[in-house]
Amino acid sequence: MPRYILVCQECAHKFEVFCSISQKDHKKCPKCNSDKITSVGDRGPGDSKAGLPRTG
Ligand SMILES: [Zn+2]
Repeated sequence: MPRYILVCQECAHKFEVFCSISQKDHKKCPKCNSDKITSVGDRGPGDSKAGLPRTG
């Protein structure tokens, strides 16, 4: 499963999710349950892969 780092726009809570790129758009903040979630990429140590497939 790919990892995505998401940030809540309501409370600025940052969290990671393990899901497909299509499912991450339906995630909610685990802290305030807001659905205003912004993805900040999947940057991680040791991962040199760049370029994500764009959908939609
Ligand atoms: Zn939140």
